[in-house]
Formats: sequence, structure tokens, C-alpha cells
Amino acid sequence: MDMDNEREKIDFDILFVGGGPASLAGAIRVMRGAAEKGLELEVAVIEKGAEIGSHALSGAILNPRALRELMPDYQEKGCPIETTVRGDGFYFLTANKSLKMPMTPRHMHNAGFHVVSLSKLTRWLAEIAEEMGVNIFPGFSGKEVLYGPDGKTVAGVRTGDQGIGKDGEKKPNFEPGIDLMARATIFGEGARGSLTADAAKKLGLFDGKLPQVFETGIKEVIQLPEDNGFVGRPVNDLHTLGYPLDLSTPGGGFIYEMADNRVSVGFLVGLAYRNAKLDLYDEFIKFKAHPFVADIIRGGTVVEQGARTVSTGGYYTMPELAVNGAMFVGGCAGMQNTPGLKGIHLAMKSGMLAADAALAAVEADRFDKETLSAYPESLSDSWAVDELYEGRNFAQALGRKSPVKWVHLGAQYITRGRGILDPMPMEPDARTLEPAKAGEPEQPDKAIYDGTLYVDKLTGVYLSKTQHREDQPSHLIVHDTHLCVTKCWGTYASPCTRFCPGQVYEMETDETTGERKLKLNPSNCLHCKTCDIKDPYDNITWTCPEGGDGPNYTVV
Ligand code: SF4
Repeated sequence: MDMDNEREKIDFDILFVGGGPASLAGAIRVMRGAAEKGLELEVAVIEKGAEIGSHALSGAILNPRALRELMPDYQEKGCPIETTVRGDGFYFLTANKSLKMPMTPRHMHNAGFHVVSLSKLTRWLAEIAEEMGVNIFPGFSGKEVLYGPDGKTVAGVRTGDQGIGKDGEKKPNFEPGIDLMARATIFGEGARGSLTADAAKKLGLFDGKLPQVFETGIKEVIQLPEDNGFVGRPVNDLHTLGYPLDLSTPGGGFIYEMADNRVSVGFLVGLAYRNAKLDLYDEFIKFKAHPFVADIIRGGTVVEQGARTVSTGGYYTMPELAVNGAMFVGGCAGMQNTPGLKGIHLAMKSGMLAADAALAAVEADRFDKETLSAYPESLSDSWAVDELYEGRNFAQALGRKSPVKWVHLGAQYITRGRGILDPMPMEPDARTLEPAKAGEPEQPDKAIYDGTLYVDKLTGVYLSKTQHREDQPSHLIVHDTHLCVTKCWGTYASPCTRFCPGQVYEMETDETTGERKLKLNPSNCLHCKTCDIKDPYDNITWTCPEGGDGPNYTVV
């Protein structure tokens, strides 16, 4: 039987792809709007994680502006808030010291904002959406964008087949994916969404834009003893620059107070970094071991760990937001206030505005680009665009070498984003590595790994609760493994073995022949997408594994 004849088809009015804050806020907004207008709509959200929230990880300061617009009584409705920011501290770290900066940049004034676990927040939003009648399908990975007969109108999404063996053979439990057809498909996949990337190739979504650039964050929730020095501090939102990175490498750290004597500790590195020997996980550990951080987290135990990229390029790197049959919201559409290190509120706002456009399209019974362009138009008139526009050159400046970068950042601060060059050109992250220098980079002191507060990469993977069915084709496609051992090893010393926080890539040497070979451990994958972005030869493509696979975050 033809596979397409076996496939089930389900029709929806509006389909949200990805169960993050953008999609869930959009789904709630659309249901409320439909109820007010007396419309009965079939609305669905699909999510590749086993549960809503399983793959939700973020530096988690929530500016509640969009949430308040969506649900003014969000606190009464039980929104899972960890703490509310009492005050901000901005520090520069040298190898052993911390210097409190005389002022915190205005984008990082977070007092009154909430510290949240994005995993818990999305679960809570999903419960509300479900009560309103949204069909929520966790464990469904979108594998392919479906187009209408003209080949240019998005018609829905095909979910991945289940039960395919390592060599592509169908197992007894094989189940073909489902075609989820929709009048409007709203992609809210998060940074570097794979379906968005496919649609971008076909529809030219990024034509004429500056390249999207990213940061990778590694983050932990740490349980502290009751008598820890962080409780009750007037400042419970801390950001750092400097150590362990040199001044030319973009990135920094954060510590946020959570409820019940927990803290959220994270470190982000801009993927425009140049040092091929940089190990992102090692930098995270060095940050934690710095006396400033170590003093705060002393006596703690890591409860959960995760990693994820954030799209930080901002305004000039955003894709076309509306096409025939579809819209793009949240991280995959570059909704990020990069100077402020916050994106959840912009993701939610974009989802809500896309929902309004979808509802208007239902009423007009037209889902072409012109009708759905009500979304980018309303975004342009909203407060969200002010934040996006002010950060339009920030990541580009941050990626420059010191001291030029500080001149640019200073000029942008004074001119509210314009700076010296506007727009400021930049290279894709995959093009910034410099050939590896001889010698080994400085690693964290091995003695620090105690298995509880300082854990190694593999323990970190364990603490992300990542799981993949082993007997399936690798979801990480290395296009040319010969290139890995010839060109890449010789020039960059295999940077994949260091930029991947999950120890998915290992370079093995055969003891008898001396030949090198790349070994893959796809089941460790944290779905952070760093390899898809940073590989200097664009030799790695991240694809969606079977639905339900990947991390299983609950509190980060
Ligand atoms: Fe991240 Fe790629 Fe490593 Fe997976 S394999 S954890 S996506 S860098």
C-alpha cells in the first residue's frame, strides 16, 4: 500500500508547531477571541518533547508585560512564579575577583519581573489552553512542511514516522506519521527550528536579511542548603561579564534566585566566538568555580541541567513573518531582546499577534500572505518592536574583538541601538572560527568535579533526563565524515567535540592503524542545536528524532 494512503490526515483551522510560550500564548488568545466572536475553531499545538515543557529551557527572567495583556489575573490563576526580582547586580569578573559595575545597563533593570522555570510556565499555559479546548499533542515531532498544490502555500505539517530501525527498516511497531493540515500554520519552534529552516529554503524567508546569530546557554537549577547566603539578599538577579571568557569572546553568566532555596545558574557564549579550542561546558564549569559564584552555590546539589541556543541576531535577522498559509513566531523568528537577555515576553507577544491575524483570516476566510501580514504589521505598531529595534546591532557588536566592541556597544547604548554602523554587518556563526592554535586550552581543575555541585558532561546529560530510542536512524546527519578527519581535524582540531555540551561527538583513534574516526552518541543529544549552527563546514544537520525523545526538563 502506498505510504500516503496509509497516512492519517487530520484537519485543523489553526495549527501551532512547538509547545513553547509563543505558541501557547497564541493558542489561548485565539480561543478567547473565537469564543468572543462565537466561532468554533479546531486549534492544535504539537510539541516534540514527551510532555509540554520537556524541552523548554531558558534564562528565565520573565518580563510579565505580554502575560499581563494575555491574562491580567495571571497571579490569581496560579502562574508558577519562583520569585520576583528585588534588585539587579551587574559584575565584571577577573580570574579571582568580582567588580560590581557602578550601574546596571537599562535593558537589565529587572526589578518587578519574575524568575520562572520555563518548563513549569509552559506546562501551566498548556493546562489553560487545554481547558479552553485546544488540542495539545506532546510527543509529536514535525518532520516535514506540507504545501498546497501551488508548492508555495503552507498547508500543514507531517509528523515523523515512529518505529523505524537504525538502517531505515520498519519495525513491527511502525506507525506512519500523520498529516496535520491547517488553514493557518503558526511555527513557534524556538531558535533554529528545523521546519522553519526547511520553509526558509523553499520560500526564501531570510533573503536579504543579515545572518541569524546565536548564543548557547548551559543552565542548572541548584538546590542550596537553607542557610545559604542568597536568601533575603536585596539583589536576587545577578549578571556577569568577563571571566572565564576573554574580552573578545561574547558571553556572560547569570544567577537568579528561585523558590525553596534554589538558584538558576547559567552561562551563555555567543557562537560568533573564534577560538576553535573553546569548550562551552568547560567555560560553564569555570564560571561556577569562580569565587563569586562558588560562594553563592556552596553546599548545593545540581537538580537539573540543560542547554539550548538562543537566536540573538535581532531585528535585521528576522525572517519574513507571514507567508501564504503560515506565520513564524518566537525564537525561530528571532524574537529576543538581546541586550536585556530576555525573550519569553517577546515570544508570547508575537504568538498573540499572530493569533489575532489568524482569527481575522478565519473571519475573512482568506489565509494568503496579504491577509496574514496583519501580524507583522501589528508587531510593527506594538511595544515589542521597540525592544527588538533597540537591540538591532547588539549581537553584531558583541561579536567584535575588544576594544572595538566596547566602542560600538557604548555608542549603541547612547544612541538607543543605532551606534556607529547601522545596520552593522556580520558573518554567520559558522564562519568565525580561527584555525586552532597549538597547545591545550586551560581546563577546569579536575579535582573540582564532585558529582553533586560540579558535574561532568555525561552527568549533566543524565541530569537533563535526556533519552532517545537507541534503535533509530541518527537524527544528527554528518554529511561528510571524511572531511571530519582530514580538513576539520587538521584546521580546527574537531571543534564539535568541544562545542557540543552533550558529548555527542568524539574523535577516536584506532590503536593499530592510528586512523581517526568520528564517533557519534546521538542518544546524549540535548537538542540545543549548537552543532547545526557552529560547524565550520556546515557539515552537521540536526533533524528531529522520534517524537517524545530528547531532554525531559521539569524545573529549569
Ligand atoms: Fe547540541 Fe548538537 Fe550536541 Fe545535540 S549534538 S547536544 S544539538 S551540539
